[in-house]
This record gives sequence, C-alpha cells and structure tokens, in this order.
Amino acid sequence: EDHKVKPLYEKPVDFTKIDINLLPTVMIIGRPNVGKSALFNRLIRRREALVYNTPDDHVTRDIREGLAKLGDLRFKVLDSAGLETEATSGSILDRTAGMTANVLAKTQFAIFMIDVRSGLHPLDLEVGKWLRKHAPQIKPIVAMNKCESLHNGTGSLAGAAAESLMLGFGDPIAISAETGLGMTELYEALRPSVEDYMLRVLNDSCTQNNSSTQDVTSPEDDESKLPLQLAIVGRPNVGKSTLLNALLQEDRVLVGPEAGLTRDSVRVHFEYQGRTVYLVDTAGWLQREKEKGPASLSVMQSRKNLMRAHVVALVLDAEEVANARRSMTHAEVVIARRAVEEGRGLVVIVNKMDLLSGRQNSALYKRVKEAVPQEIQTVIPQVTGIPVVFTSALEGRGRIAVMHQVIDTYQKWCLRLPTSRLNRWLRKVMGRHSWKDQSAQPKIKYFTQVKARPPTFVAFLSGKKTLSDAELRFLTKSLKEDFDLGGIPIRITQRSVP
Ligand code: GDP
Ligand code: GDP
Repeated sequence: EDHKVKPLYEKPVDFTKIDINLLPTVMIIGRPNVGKSALFNRLIRRREALVYNTPDDHVTRDIREGLAKLGDLRFKVLDSAGLETEATSGSILDRTAGMTANVLAKTQFAIFMIDVRSGLHPLDLEVGKWLRKHAPQIKPIVAMNKCESLHNGTGSLAGAAAESLMLGFGDPIAISAETGLGMTELYEALRPSVEDYMLRVLNDSCTQNNSSTQDVTSPEDDESKLPLQLAIVGRPNVGKSTLLNALLQEDRVLVGPEAGLTRDSVRVHFEYQGRTVYLVDTAGWLQREKEKGPASLSVMQSRKNLMRAHVVALVLDAEEVANARRSMTHAEVVIARRAVEEGRGLVVIVNKMDLLSGRQNSALYKRVKEAVPQEIQTVIPQVTGIPVVFTSALEGRGRIAVMHQVIDTYQKWCLRLPTSRLNRWLRKVMGRHSWKDQSAQPKIKYFTQVKARPPTFVAFLSGKKTLSDAELRFLTKSLKEDFDLGGIPIRITQRSVP
C-alpha cells in the first residue's frame, strides 16, 4: 500500500534541544530610535548579550548578539543599533557601511523596524535600499513598532501599514517592543522560515554524518525530500475541508482551539510515501472562514500565506465552473496569479465532479474538463502546463491524483540542473528555428542554474547585448518543454560578462 497517511500534531523542530551554534541569526535593522534595542532586550529578556566589535576604519562599533526566545522558537538575534550611535554624520548608508560583509553573511533573516507614529521616514527607505544592495537574499519582516501608543487616536494603523508597503517587503506586522504587543504575530511571521532553515540544517548534518560509506547524494535529492509545505486555498464551500479529510482519511484532523490547541500551535502534517507534508495555515483559514463567511477570502489571498507554501493547491467548485461563463472568479484568478508571482508551484483542483457525473457523457462534463485547463492557460500565460486534477472529495475520488501532482510539482520546483547539461541543451536550442539568425542574437556564453525552489537561471551574455522579452520567453518555454517543468514558475535573469 503506497498511500499511507498519518496525521501528527507534534512540533517538527524542538528548538530547545538544538545546539545554539546551529541556530539561525535574525538581525534587527532600522533607522535610529525606532526601538531596535527595545525589541532586542525583549527577545533576549534577562539573558546576557554578547557584545563584539566591528573595527571600521578608526571607529569601533558594537553589535550585540543574544539568544532570542519567542514562544518555543529560538534564534540568535543581532542588534545593529550600536552601529548608529557612533556615527557622526552622513546618511544611514554611510553609518551602516561599518556593518561589514562578515556580519551580513552570518545573518539569515531580518526584522525591519519602523515607527508607526511618525509614518514612513526617508531614512526608512534608505535602510531598505541598503539592505537590498548588501543582502538581497534577505527578505525582512517589516515591524511597525510603538503600536500601543495608537490607542489614544494618534495616527492610524491602517495608514501606516499602507505606507509601509512602499518599502517593498510585503505586509507589515504591528508590534510594541515596550509592551510586548504583537509578539504572536512576530512569532507567526518568523516561525515558518526559521523552521524551514532549521530543518535544512538538521538534514544537512544528518546526511553529512551518514555519507561516509555512501556516495554523496546529489543536491536535488536532498531538497526534494525536505518536508513539503502545502497550502490548500480556495473560496469558502468549494470543499477544502472535505478534501483535506479525504487526503488524511481521518475526520479528527481538523483541530481547533476547542481541542485545547491555539491556532499558533496547530501545525497539521502528514506522511505521504515517506515524505512529510505540512499544511500551511490550515487551522487558520478554517477558523477564520467559518467565523467570517465569504468576506474572509482576503485571508487566502494574503501573500504571507502563499509565501510559506512550496506548492499551492487551488480548489474550484465544478458545479460553479459548469454554471458560470468563466471557470475562475476574479478572486481565484488573483490567488493563482499571486502564487505564481511568488514563485510557488501551482496545482488546480476541480472538486465536486460527482455533481456532474450523472451526465458523464454530457457536453457539460466534457466542457468543464476542457475549459478549466484552457482558461488557466489564458489567465496565467507565463506558466504553461499547470496541472489540473478533477476530484470528488465527498466520494474520496481523485485524492491520489492530487497527491501525485502536488509531489510531482514539488520535485520539479526543487530541481537542479547541472551546468554542463544546461549548456549542452543551450547549444541545441540555439540551433532551433527562432535562433537561426545568429548574428542578430545576443551571444549567450553560458547558462547556469543559480537556485532551486523555484528553479532560477542566469544567462551570461558576452558584451553589452541583452536578451529581449521574446527571447527570454523562448528560452523559458524551451526549458519548460525540454525539462518537463510544467506548472513551475521558472525565472531567468541575464548578466553581461566581458
Ligand atoms: P533604537 O536606537 O532604534 O534601537 O531605539 P531604542 O530601542 O533605543 O528606542 C528609542 C526610543 O523609543 C526609546 O525612548 C524607547 O523607550 C522608545 N520605544 C521603543 N519601543 C517602543 C514602543 O514599543 N512604544 C513606545 N511608545 N516607545 C518605544
Ligand atoms: P470549505 O469551506 O472549502 O472547507 O468546504 P467544505 O469542505 O466545508 O465543503 C462545503 C460543502 O460542500 C459541504 O457541504 C461538503 O459536504 C460539500 N462537498 C465537499 N466536497 C464535495 C464533493 O466532492 N462533492 C459534493 N457533491 N459535495 C462536496
């Protein structure tokens, strides 16, 4: 029996048992006086901070490092406040220049603090620019501090939140370093990525320990065996809960606070063919949706939730599809597009097919099966071959197909292609019709994959020539077809080499 499903509720990583040296580092950044030190002190509580010096020209600057406790989460936290206090003049960029590459290189995550009372400050934008420039790999969590002070009607949270989007780092969270307000939100925002990081580190150390006798496993094997984070999204009543139960084959899995668990601590996961699958924020959407009704669709659209997922399964209602002129409502199109824009793998599920099955051979049934994939292709032209699965959660039909597509999509999402193979492929592609006029084409010197999850490629071009959008599309399309990467948002960037 290959379909073994067992739900577990325990926490996947027990941070209290992890060697401190293995923990990731979170740096608190922000312009002076936003409350960085206050947050640092709250996170480390009474534990001692380690202060070390970063010699920079003639000035010695202090960075404090401490062990942060946030719920059951543990991480190392860096306070960069000391970098500013010694500064005498110049912009924040000058001041933080003292933060050497060494410090940034040992940082995996960042909390970007702003002051909710003063609105977005020009210096905030500078800090953002500085981070993008020096550590583009870090996507910080934006924290609007001093929110407790808004109770007296000074300023508006919504206004500040909207303004903060200008930083380009996504939705902010509201906190107060002084009173502890919003620490749950901070925890929620950090937990998935810190946990992901930890699982990767632990997995690495395991494979290192075991690899003495075996051949070193290739990176794609390792990555695609890491736990898969699955988000099941869709409008209310399309059958998400029913589908989830069918996947888990267990009714009790939908735990809420009544079972003595808070939303924060519920992390449903199950095993499928030896692989761990986490459900992203499932308890959250179930609860909020049932409470608030259809209006809560925004919850599922939130970028934050999609970002946590590796694969997004968007559920549609077959009957609604059959009755409507379009397969997907505007909201559904928005979710699907966002998932793709955020680089997630996408699987579309058309549920409640049993409602049409009495008419197996009818035009309606056939039309739904044909219309959905076509329409998805039209609304998301940038990703071809998005898998569509037709199910009846109620009758338990199609759940193996769902899991098959989810895992297949995840594996493709984790794929790493060796440079040698890519360049053999490139030579072949360059010979194809569209590239025949070689003199007019920019010369790609070589082509390499810089990242997986999702697959990201760089084309190195000789001289100053660049690839046009049409050429990039051609390359993307060829990659997808030749390496069977349907449903995966792949990215290609270009760089000139002399
Ligand atoms: P940093 O230099 O940016 O790290 O900021 P500090 O932590 O030194 O804080 C600057 C000022 O803001 C201090 O006077 C703090 O007491 C105050 N502050 C920090 N956090 C909060 C908060 O959550 N609410 C309020 N009202 N004041 C805060
Ligand atoms: P959710 O709000 O998306 O979680 O939807 P639910 O799982 O709560 O399902 C909403 C309603 O649709 C319930 O009455 C389910 O019994 C029903 N339902 C779910 N899946 C199917 C299906 O495959 N076929 C039919 N006919 N009804 C279904």
